[in-house]
Amino acid sequence: MIDFQYTRADTIADAIRQISANTEAKFIAGGTNLIDLMKEDVERPARLIDISRLPLKSVEETANRGLRIGALVPNSDLAYHPLIAQRYPMLASAILAGASAQLRNMASTGGNLLQRTRCAYFYDTTSPCNKREPGSGCSAIAGLNRGHAILGTSEACIATHPSDMCVALVALDATVHVVGPTGARAIAFADFHRLPENTPQRDTNLERNEIITAIELPARGFAANCSYLKIRDRLSYAFALVSVAAALELEGDTIKAARLALGGVAHKPWRDPSAEAELQGQTTNPSTFTRAANVLLRDARGFEHNAFKIDLARSAIVRTLTQAASGIPQSQSSKKIA
Ligand SMILES: Cc1cc2nc3c(=O)[nH]c(=O)nc-3n(C[C@H](O)[C@H](O)[C@H](O)COP(=O)(O)OP(=O)(O)OC[C@H]3O[C@@H](n4cnc5c(N)ncnc54)[C@H](O)[C@@H]3O)c2cc1C
Ligand code: SF4
Repeated sequence: MIDFQYTRADTIADAIRQISANTEAKFIAGGTNLIDLMKEDVERPARLIDISRLPLKSVEETANRGLRIGALVPNSDLAYHPLIAQRYPMLASAILAGASAQLRNMASTGGNLLQRTRCAYFYDTTSPCNKREPGSGCSAIAGLNRGHAILGTSEACIATHPSDMCVALVALDATVHVVGPTGARAIAFADFHRLPENTPQRDTNLERNEIITAIELPARGFAANCSYLKIRDRLSYAFALVSVAAALELEGDTIKAARLALGGVAHKPWRDPSAEAELQGQTTNPSTFTRAANVLLRDARGFEHNAFKIDLARSAIVRTLTQAASGIPQSQSSKKIA
């Protein structure tokens, strides 16, 4: 039995005061990831600060016709919110491709960004893991690495970020709003998660005494031509081997603007503007889409068990862009890869 204290925050200021007062404290929202980590003895917070009753549960239109999503909006409420379903169907598709209905009811928007990797060695406290215990080594590099990263890896860590929602959010140019002891700041979604480099213990650029208050979406939702494709071992309740968020703005069959992001392949949702530039001004056809895929994957590197992800990602990108061009927002795949 490992003891910990439990308190509830009444206001955002109270939450920040409480987390700043105890370096061993952690916020808890839906608890769907943090409680698992505590049960596995991967995380040992001395104090849990429950933020689930803070007034961060609304979805509101912003002055510039975007949306501001409170950090405590449950994943299921967000996916089925009429404004999300109508204006940002790629985000709704990505959320519904994740976890299970029960988990999505509990999981919060802010918590989804901060969920930790599903690398099995990270959860196995008998294995060396630089993310869990800096300097101890990475068991995955020469171990079982079928689910691991092919882009942006380092010698310290090859873990992936497991979120689906975040892949759509980075493609949509979202902004993360946070508040800390010195006030509020906004972080571009592409800058929120980090690559492992030599500090894999840090997943994001959020400071430990900051709280996520909201995610803001710009007005442009690419509602007419977008798609989210998640390829995994089972149709539900499995994390992505590879996922793709693709969005196009079309004039006839000419691409005026494009967004393309990958999940399941890197320590952060992977987006590269040069792949999107490859699509701009081109017509929607498989060779255009393959060229963009090749740009996005140009630095991909496989390990012993996951090299298949490079070809899988290439095919998935072409298929998702084809679906986006045809206005098909989601197709689920349960493709079993040997
Ligand atoms: C079996 C299973 C399958 C899953 N499958 C998928 C999947 O396929 N795709 C997918 O995307 N996700 C999946 N998930 C992940 C799930 O979506 C996340 O666990 C969930 O979104 C986390 O939200 P939470 O509110 O429960 O976070 P919690 O567990 O409460 O917190 C997670 C972390 O975030 C911190 N935190 C939470 N809210 C805030 C805040 N507002 N500000 C600062 N820090 C905060 C906590 O301190 C903690 O460190 C799965 C989870 C499980 C258990
Ligand atoms: S890949 Fe990262 S999380 Fe997994 S064992 Fe290596 S250091 Fe740990």
